[in-house]
Amino acid sequence: MSAQIIDGKAFAAKVRGQVAEHVTRLKEQHGITPGLAVVLVGEDPASQVYVRSKGKMTAEVGMKSVEHKLEVETAEADLLALIDQLNKDESIHGILVQLPLPKHLNEDLVINSISPAKDVDGFHISNVGLLGTGQKSMVPCTPLGCLMMLREHHGSLSGLNAVVIGRSNIVGKPMAQLLLGDSCTVTIAHSRTKDLPEVVGRADIVVAAVGRPEMVPGEWIKKGATVIDVGINRIERDGKNKLVGDVDFASCSEVAGAITPVPGGVGPMTIACLLANTVTACSRANGLPEPEGLTA
Ligand code: NAD
Repeated sequence: MSAQIIDGKAFAAKVRGQVAEHVTRLKEQHGITPGLAVVLVGEDPASQVYVRSKGKMTAEVGMKSVEHKLEVETAEADLLALIDQLNKDESIHGILVQLPLPKHLNEDLVINSISPAKDVDGFHISNVGLLGTGQKSMVPCTPLGCLMMLREHHGSLSGLNAVVIGRSNIVGKPMAQLLLGDSCTVTIAHSRTKDLPEVVGRADIVVAAVGRPEMVPGEWIKKGATVIDVGINRIERDGKNKLVGDVDFASCSEVAGAITPVPGGVGPMTIACLLANTVTACSRANGLPEPEGLTA
């Protein structure tokens, strides 16, 4: 293996440390405790794990953590009423509705009912528009975490060729906007892209966010490129359950200059960035300086 491993776990711990320091300052100097409310509808096992871990880490950095667990058959009006109440609650600075929602609930309507200033997932249409026009916004956590790791590794990203594989609203599109904001030349590849190996082969930075286990082999990667693997795929190998990314780590790490592992790469950064967004939202809500280095 020649690639440097980008240690997302260690980087996330550092980000959480910075968040905790800012939380302490807010408490001691201004008497303000940032608060994050997480809303979970239904009993999806993966969502329950995420919500538990978000709550635990929120409390660990000294913030107020509130969880609302609603029945799977919750009516849309009741969910909207809860969001309205959280929007008005001055002790809550961040609201996250865990996705996916049960089928009978309109995800767009629900997300767009969150106050944009408290939308710590960055999915509200106002935040999407602000990010797209290069204005101050709440930035989706996973792409923000990827950007932080890329900035840490490269310093400046200006002029680099970046290829984002995947065009989802949650990862691919905001990732592309952030890279554009840092002056990369950006290509978004997706399921209809022609000659994906050729497109990926031009990239100095590859961000894979597809959801297909190990689909990017080392032979697609330009020598020395930085590979950020967003994928989280559960597979069975040799009779054991295993987590793998969207890139084939074994072959890609032979060619890449730097690569994120799965697990231990992008995953831990996502929750760290959720905490960072909450402390940023709290600072903005109170007209106080934002923590440095924790926003795009
Ligand atoms: P999605 O299903 O919404 O989007 C997948 C994208 O991949 C689509 O835009 C599609 O066009 C593209 N695609 C599908 N097949 C392709 C192919 N053969 N070639 C090129 N492109 C193809 O997924 P998502 O929500 O963006 O998530 C992507 C992956 O990232 C998943 O594995 C998900 O679990 C993971 N994820 C991880 C984190 C994290 O914290 N690490 C956060 C969000 C998502």
